[in-house]
Amino acid sequence: MSPEAASSGEPPNVWETARGRMRQLELSTSRMSSRWFFGNAGVLAASLLFLLTAIVLGISVAHMLDYAAKAEHAQTILHEASDLQNAISESASLTRAFTLTRDNKLLRSRAQANKAVWAHMAVLDTLLADDSEGRQLLVQNRRNLARRIALYDTLIVAPNSSSPLAYETERLHLAHLNNTQISALRDRASDDFKRYQNSVTDDMRLSMALALFSGIASPLFGLIGIHLLRRERQSQQARELQLELIHVQRLAIMGETAAMLAHEINQPLTAASNYLGVVRRLLENEGSETSKSVLERVEQQIQRAATIVRKLRRFIEKRETERGLESPDILVEDAITLLGTIDSTIDLTTAIAPDLPLVLVDRVQVQQVLVNLMRNAIEAMQGCAQHKLALSITLSSNKMIEVALADSGPGLPPEVALRLFQPFVSTKIGGMGVGLSICQSIVSQHGGRIWADANPDGGTIFRFTLPAVEARAVAA
Ligand code: ADP
Repeated sequence: MSPEAASSGEPPNVWETARGRMRQLELSTSRMSSRWFFGNAGVLAASLLFLLTAIVLGISVAHMLDYAAKAEHAQTILHEASDLQNAISESASLTRAFTLTRDNKLLRSRAQANKAVWAHMAVLDTLLADDSEGRQLLVQNRRNLARRIALYDTLIVAPNSSSPLAYETERLHLAHLNNTQISALRDRASDDFKRYQNSVTDDMRLSMALALFSGIASPLFGLIGIHLLRRERQSQQARELQLELIHVQRLAIMGETAAMLAHEINQPLTAASNYLGVVRRLLENEGSETSKSVLERVEQQIQRAATIVRKLRRFIEKRETERGLESPDILVEDAITLLGTIDSTIDLTTAIAPDLPLVLVDRVQVQQVLVNLMRNAIEAMQGCAQHKLALSITLSSNKMIEVALADSGPGLPPEVALRLFQPFVSTKIGGMGVGLSICQSIVSQHGGRIWADANPDGGTIFRFTLPAVEARAVAA
């Protein structure tokens, strides 16, 4: 309602209502809705989560590989240290056996065992290249081992060269040192192995948990986002369709009003022209030249006004429409979508006969008829207990598609029922009363008929027909 109308207490006029509705729709079309925002946020969150998971998984796998390599290294050290210990024990046993048996074969085996000792020592040396503490243990061990082997060597060359007690004491001491140092090496390697293996397991657990979470959450966020964006697009399309219809409706009302005005003005103009003819005849004999020339000018102006009105009528009648072959059920589909945007509390049922033939219509105009009838029904049902709307499409025996729209409103007011399709008949405050007359002109332009019946269940049933197109005509 305009400020002037509001202040003067006048009912809002139909143009202002349509303009206001257009402005509202234009605003809501351009405004960023929360569905749009959350839809995009969902898709973005899914993509980011997916990317983040890929990065974290990549880092985690790199760590796992590193820890696995370190665990393997620790395991190799552990094996080498065990082999070294075995080789040392074997060398000692062979030495003792030789001192007892003096069998030279044992000496050769002892030499082999000693060789193995130094070979394992060299391998350990390489394996512990980056471990200063481990290397220190190895250096001490090597020194003690050299001394231990030398001690055994003296026993082999001269079995009685040293006092047995001093010899045994040193041998046992060195053997103990050797064992302690190698055990320390093994313990360290074993601890490292366990630690790295635990790290691999921890990383694996983390990666699996993350992959599981992302595997569920990413598609979920993505799907929710896509769903919201699709719904936003659908309502955007519905809003645009409604805008288009309101626009067409405004133009139609304007055209219809202009046609009616032209028709109404034409009659007084014709009457005025006739009266002028009478006046001219009266003045022909006794009238002055001045009054005759004034009369002529009046006649010219009336002729001019009549020509303008005639041209206007011709222009309005020649309006071009865009007709195409349409399926009746698709036609009502858009109108139903629009209905949802007008009022979502309506209990709508549809009954559309299967395999309906096509109709040759101007899609927007027929939708305009449907929306007009639906809007009237919704407005009539305001304040009623029930808000039921039943839409049905059938094929009648005379090859006409019949659309029926039944509402549960109060029925037609008696003063309106008789002049239902006449223009400017309305019971609504601010209603212009041209909606149904436009519906009638659209339907009759398409070769159909529109009428209203009382609904046996209470309310009104509006029906209109459209000629069905023969299948042969479509194929041609
Ligand atoms: P407007 O909606 O501007 O009044 P219409 O030509 O569309 O103009 O409708 C004319 C009148 O017909 C309405 O004012 C209303 O009184 C009556 N009418 C139309 N449809 C219905 C309906 N479904 N139930 C009851 N009355 C209706």
